[in-house]
Amino acid sequence: MNHHSRRDFIKTGALGSLLIGTGIFAGAACTSVKQRGKAKNVIFLVSDGMSVGALTMADHVLRRRDGKPSNWIRLLEEGKVRQANMDMASANALVTDSAAASCSWGCGHRVNNGSVNIGVNGETHKPILPIFGDAGRSTGLVTTAEITHATPAGFAANVESRNMAEKIAEQYLDRRLDVLMGGGDRRYNPEKRSDNKDLYAEYRAGGYHVVTSKQEIGSRLPDAPFLGVFDHGHVPYTIDHLHTPELMESVPTLAEMTELAIQKLSSNPNGFILQVEGARVDHAAHSNDPAGLIYDQIAFDNAIQTALDFTENRDDTLVIITTDHGNSNPGLSSGSNSNFDKINHFKHSSEWVRRQLNESSSVSRIKEVMEEATRLQLADLEATAMRDVLRGVYTHVASRRSGMASVYGEILSNHTNITWASTSHTSDYVELASYGPGSEALEGYVKNTDLFRVMVEAAGIEERFLTFEEEMAA
Ligand SMILES: [Zn+2]
Repeated sequence: MNHHSRRDFIKTGALGSLLIGTGIFAGAACTSVKQRGKAKNVIFLVSDGMSVGALTMADHVLRRRDGKPSNWIRLLEEGKVRQANMDMASANALVTDSAAASCSWGCGHRVNNGSVNIGVNGETHKPILPIFGDAGRSTGLVTTAEITHATPAGFAANVESRNMAEKIAEQYLDRRLDVLMGGGDRRYNPEKRSDNKDLYAEYRAGGYHVVTSKQEIGSRLPDAPFLGVFDHGHVPYTIDHLHTPELMESVPTLAEMTELAIQKLSSNPNGFILQVEGARVDHAAHSNDPAGLIYDQIAFDNAIQTALDFTENRDDTLVIITTDHGNSNPGLSSGSNSNFDKINHFKHSSEWVRRQLNESSSVSRIKEVMEEATRLQLADLEATAMRDVLRGVYTHVASRRSGMASVYGEILSNHTNITWASTSHTSDYVELASYGPGSEALEGYVKNTDLFRVMVEAAGIEERFLTFEEEMAA
């Protein structure tokens, strides 16, 4: 908990890196994490693209609507977590992408934006899920993005580009991950894959239990390794999920997936590592969509509760709660609280709105769709701006503000006071909360790459598992 222990960590952490090559890492040299080997389990929860404003506004909504704080803020309020600011820069950019961000945690190296555990000189870094798997732990990935997307891939795959999603799906099978849940049917389905391979059949042949809807799951996962793919692409935004009964039937929430994953993974007496990603907070931020953002952040917060339920009355689990970068820096700007409370009545995301409209939509049709999605009545000027974007004739002096995302965000800011700085990732140092064995090293200011060593040391993973076998032989 004190600053002294953290400085020791940084010092011996650097020493530990030097010693890896000589095989001394597993010995007494690395005493940085005080509770070395005490973490049987690691649960890593990441809200993707979560600026502090997203965390704040989700907490505002929960306090004002439900009379209770978010789990994340309550943990801070009650002093139950250690807190840090984390520098998420990648090897080649102050502003990271999700692939490089996840790899910094997943392999302990900064890589270039877009690459997945391939270093700046082409070197292959073994990611943390195969490391834990080889050490006898169970491994899992749960996300609201496609399961092959950048953040889960950063913990489990090695490819030159995050865009190689079909190959990532094959690597997950080769690496025998125990639980995979998210979207991304198009990466598995033979009718959708570019090579027409039937990845579902390959997974089944490899012993996996495969499902493509919530109804097929039942109350617990089978003993076999498990693949659950619940959408063609990313799973729906929470705000759309909540207001579409068919989706509620067929697609589990992030918290439901997390609970099933923990239940299954924790049956391994050697322990497990699980990454849980609230992926669409990032997508909503790119879209300057306040309801998409806030409700997906709340869904992520519900997954934190699931982790808390598991760790209650146990001290053998390192829990890390963070984000990989800011995005668009949303925030509540001054105005009346009742404007902000309008967010409680939204029914759909901007993605849903876009699906109802096209380049020939009229101003009155736009107003009708927006009223259905947000319960707001747009002014003619606002709906006209949206129509002009749809027709490709809207221009704005600021290049970052000329697309639909900016126009949508600015129109809604007139009504809700929720404002945005851009439509892309930011370099802001990010919030990091953690508890359990190993968390003592995560206070103050940390670098993204520190987390890899903290997880590996806290779990007491032996040095021989940190590289792929063939590389050690070479
Ligand atoms: Zn993003």
